[in-house]
Amino acid sequence: MSKVTLKNVVKQYDSFVAVREMSLDISNGEFLALLGPSGCGKTTTLRMIAGFVEASAGRIFFGDQDVTDLPPNKRNTGMVFQGFALFPHMNVHQNIAYGLEMRRVSKDEIRGRVAKVLDLVQLDRFAERMPRQLSGGQQQRVALARALVINPHVLLLDEPLSALDAKLRHDVRLQIRQLQQSLGLTTVFVTHDQEEALSLADRLVVMNGGAVEQIGSPADLYERPATPFVADFIGKTNFFKGTLEGDRFTTDAGTSFKVAAKVARATLLGVRPEKIKIAVSQPSAATVHSDANEIEGVVELVSYLGPFTEYQVKVSGEQRLLVQQANRDVLEAMHPGQAVRLTIPPEWCFLFNADPGMESDLMGEA
Ligand code: ATP
Repeated sequence: MSKVTLKNVVKQYDSFVAVREMSLDISNGEFLALLGPSGCGKTTTLRMIAGFVEASAGRIFFGDQDVTDLPPNKRNTGMVFQGFALFPHMNVHQNIAYGLEMRRVSKDEIRGRVAKVLDLVQLDRFAERMPRQLSGGQQQRVALARALVINPHVLLLDEPLSALDAKLRHDVRLQIRQLQQSLGLTTVFVTHDQEEALSLADRLVVMNGGAVEQIGSPADLYERPATPFVADFIGKTNFFKGTLEGDRFTTDAGTSFKVAAKVARATLLGVRPEKIKIAVSQPSAATVHSDANEIEGVVELVSYLGPFTEYQVKVSGEQRLLVQQANRDVLEAMHPGQAVRLTIPPEWCFLFNADPGMESDLMGEA
């Protein structure tokens, strides 16, 4: 197992920069997820680590070894790709043994190592089966066994679960995590599924347009997003445009919120749907308490989602907010047309200094 280091790695196709000055330190045994929208450079980064794509600039190290100029077969990486099919004419044992045969490992050793990885992925009874006799999840576990059998320095996974249905995805995902932890495998995982990334990874790298937006633990990214892009990409966020003065943020619609965070020249306030409290508006308490960060609104849409209910609420300035309420303690859901009072706790407000283009994108403006 190796530590993996990327130093100012760039990939350029003619004038198009697919990956910009990427620097990363992946610790020994760490599970790192590369996450971001389609085309942001995740796969290109993974393929540069594997050696299938040549870096235009920068260096890549496995431990202390500079592997930048090594071909893929000299880097000893184990890889599982989406649609990286098993050889259909070979049985499970032969599929897994193939990489070791290429490395001229002795027959006895191959037998022992294949048996061991089959045991690890709990397919020891399936050694003689052909790929077509296996379920999708079993085939992915064979692909994983094939990657693990070479004792890779680094395990590289590119959307390995995307062909599986939701239940199987969940099961195989847990297995991958357990195996990765028990073997202490340095692993880089590419996905565009944020739930998968949050649940699997020690750290996530959120990429946007070939550049790193933020690197951090799942909780870092969710609770302390560094940029509006991250706040919007990881989970859901309600945004308000406005201006900050002291500890008060005044939205363009004229609502004033007390905030706890301090960001110079903040122009955007964000708050997660589940941090907003929702209650039936009491006609007797006509005035809203702006010191308590309360705003009035009307429920427009109600979506029951099992553990919680999601509301779309229209507030002043024609803005619509998403609010999630846990169903655990709630006897009756709100209904469309209901007047509600929302409370936005200051400690859960994110502040950003965003450029106007980004603001318009986030607010869904043309
Ligand atoms: P996805 O989630 O859709 O797989 P990704 O984040 O993995 O996306 P990459 O496959 O790394 O994205 O591609 C990054 C950018 O580089 C894309 O805009 C892609 O079109 C471009 N690109 C990739 N390979 C080449 C190539 N061989 N020649 C030119 N451009 C390329």
